[in-house]
Amino acid sequence: MRTDSIPVVGADIAVVGGSIAGCATALAAHRAGAGRITVFERAGAHLADRGVGLAVHNSRYAELTAAGYMDAAMPWVQLTTRRWYVREGAAPLGRQIAALPFPFRSYCWGPLWQELRGRLPATTDFRTGTPVREVRATANGAALHLGDGPSSGAADGAGGAPSTIDRFDLVIGADGYRSVVREAAFPEVRPRYAGYLAWRGAVPAERLAALDPPGLPPEPWAEEDCIYAVFPGGHVILYRIPDGRGGHRANWVLYTTPPADAGLRLDTPTSLPPGTLTDALHSHLRHVTEALLPPYWGGLIRLTPPQEVFIQPMYDFTAPRYTAGRLVLAGDAATVARPHTGGGAVKALQDAAALEAALLAAPERPGALDAYGAERGATGRTMVELGRRLGRPLVQETPDWGALDQTGVESLWSAADGSGAFGGRALQS
Ligand SMILES: Cc1cc2nc3c(=O)[nH]c(=O)nc-3n(C[C@H](O)[C@H](O)[C@H](O)COP(=O)(O)OP(=O)(O)OC[C@H]3O[C@@H](n4cnc5c(N)ncnc54)[C@H](O)[C@@H]3O)c2cc1C
Repeated sequence: MRTDSIPVVGADIAVVGGSIAGCATALAAHRAGAGRITVFERAGAHLADRGVGLAVHNSRYAELTAAGYMDAAMPWVQLTTRRWYVREGAAPLGRQIAALPFPFRSYCWGPLWQELRGRLPATTDFRTGTPVREVRATANGAALHLGDGPSSGAADGAGGAPSTIDRFDLVIGADGYRSVVREAAFPEVRPRYAGYLAWRGAVPAERLAALDPPGLPPEPWAEEDCIYAVFPGGHVILYRIPDGRGGHRANWVLYTTPPADAGLRLDTPTSLPPGTLTDALHSHLRHVTEALLPPYWGGLIRLTPPQEVFIQPMYDFTAPRYTAGRLVLAGDAATVARPHTGGGAVKALQDAAALEAALLAAPERPGALDAYGAERGATGRTMVELGRRLGRPLVQETPDWGALDQTGVESLWSAADGSGAFGGRALQS
């Protein structure tokens, strides 16, 4: 069945997932003239308090602003330069080996989500704490099975615990890397574990005063700096993000391979939220911050209490298509690229902008939604490939960082980012 045979204006559209892609695609559906829009979000009501940092390239921000998916009301910190440091004896910051441009704005997930959520019309039925259990294509749309009841039987009046079933003209899968919508459309797709983890945290600015190595000024790194502190087998990225209350937090993401005794089962997609890390994972982080990083950057990471550290294993995949009948994918449900690409949130927002254009064009131009899938699929594949290429020198096959200088780092980066897609590909209009 062609995806674009639906009458978009007045259509009954479901969005599964209410994060960045979910809010943005619900907005896209509204702008394209959908009738009823229902967002099903598994998590409870407190999404706005969650999340740490994400970065948006200045050029992508400009395009997304023009498309109506970002604006200056979303609090950000302007970054300009990324400084690369290696450990060098007791030098607090280490030795700077290179400085590269970094034209990105940094955001905190929570305030960004809150702004996007606030842009949805009041008529949107946004149901938090409502997991979608299963998705099934039907003759003229798709059916969603909600809650814990049986997915069949009760629907036919055959008894068993109650299961709610809702039917829609179109279902947008914005339910992230473990998407049930993608599972329905492309059950063969399996996210692939890349072999390493990201340990993550964010330190409130006031806690940084506890770091006071002799000989350093009180603010040893400029607000516009993004730090890449590199070590054998990995690196940490640090930059400031808004805290949503007018101040800053120091956001950090440390990538490296976990120890063999970490007891992790990562063959199926998983994540370790704050408070669930094993002792082996905490010890490994301590080892890296004490023995491999320059003292100041390692100390900054250790200011994050263990119960606040969380882990994101690295997975990547691309769905073969973004559309299957009345099912449409967007954001991480369709493609996950490793975060080295600096483009995960941008990709989700671009998907929404492209989907809006396709939904608007669909009644006049048969194939508009399939064209959405083709164009966004090409972008998704580019970003996945970029993530894999960047992962090699940054984590999996790190060079002798101490032997590199400005020219060495520049050529390492340009060899890995051959496509120039760092921060996301330009949005096709
Ligand atoms: C609470 C939260 C905090 C985050 N914080 C950060 C961050 O600090 N930095 C960063 O770079 N990225 C963060 N991310 C991830 C980031 O949002 C995504 O990688 C990227 O923006 C793409 O977003 P997405 O909406 O496609 O996917 P996701 O953000 O993964 O959103 C998927 C959504 O779908 C929901 N969902 C999943 N399955 C179901 C189901 N069966 N039924 C109903 N709902 C379902 C999930 O609860 C989630 O809200 C966060 C995601 C979440 C959910």
